[in-house]
Amino acid sequence: MSERLELDKVCVVYEGARGGHSAVEDFSLTLAAGRIGCLLGPSGCGKTTVLRAIAGFEPLRSGTVRLGETVLSSSTVHLQPERRRVGLMFQEYALFPHLSAGENVAFGLRRLTASARRARVEELLKLVDLAEAADRYPHELSGGQQQRIALARALAPQPALMLLDEPFSNLDAATRERLTLEVRDILRRTGQTAILVTHNQAEARAMADDIGVMHNGRLVRWGAAEG
Ligand code: ADP
Ligand code: MG
Repeated sequence: MSERLELDKVCVVYEGARGGHSAVEDFSLTLAAGRIGCLLGPSGCGKTTVLRAIAGFEPLRSGTVRLGETVLSSSTVHLQPERRRVGLMFQEYALFPHLSAGENVAFGLRRLTASARRARVEELLKLVDLAEAADRYPHELSGGQQQRIALARALAPQPALMLLDEPFSNLDAATRERLTLEVRDILRRTGQTAILVTHNQAEARAMADDIGVMHNGRLVRWGAAEG
């Protein structure tokens, strides 16, 4: 079930040569269950760091990340990433090249029985309109098809929250535009709470129920998108 996401005064610091550099500072937002939030900002402003903190790959210096009633992260709590019920569509989470599309989608479903897993994979492949591609390998799929399989894989375990990190940036402009709308419709249809980060304004506007602008690790504005 999708949950509401709440970040309260989140601060993330990378310890380094310069004695600690705060990549995300005093970052607060609330995203209601089932809504799609977009964070827009230039390269280096801290978008990926915010998502990594929510996913549990970076500890917080201070502040709190809550999903529904559960505290995922604070200065004293750090729930392991695999226990967060968070789905990822990140560039570095590309498809496993040696697994077929269907096996990629099945990857997060190891706890289901074989027949339940088969049914769920079929349902997800239909959802992303790639039912016929179950037995194909990633190199036999276009870039856009690969990203739809990546979405299906992330949605398969029914995460409470989906995180998307510039998921369309390696695609040509026409594919990017089409896929942006397709992914938005799939997220809406499944009632999925989701955060997408991008430096692409058109993409953010096309996707967002709520939109925020980031600058130097801070959230400058946050609120309902127009129109
Ligand atoms: P974006 O995703 O918006 O491009 P990032 O979150 O990747 O921004 O990076 C924000 C800032 O943190 C940048 O100044 C970047 O150089 C720095 N940074 C990112 N990852 C690390 C890391 N692992 N160690 C140290 N600094 C990092
Ligand atoms: Mg990034």
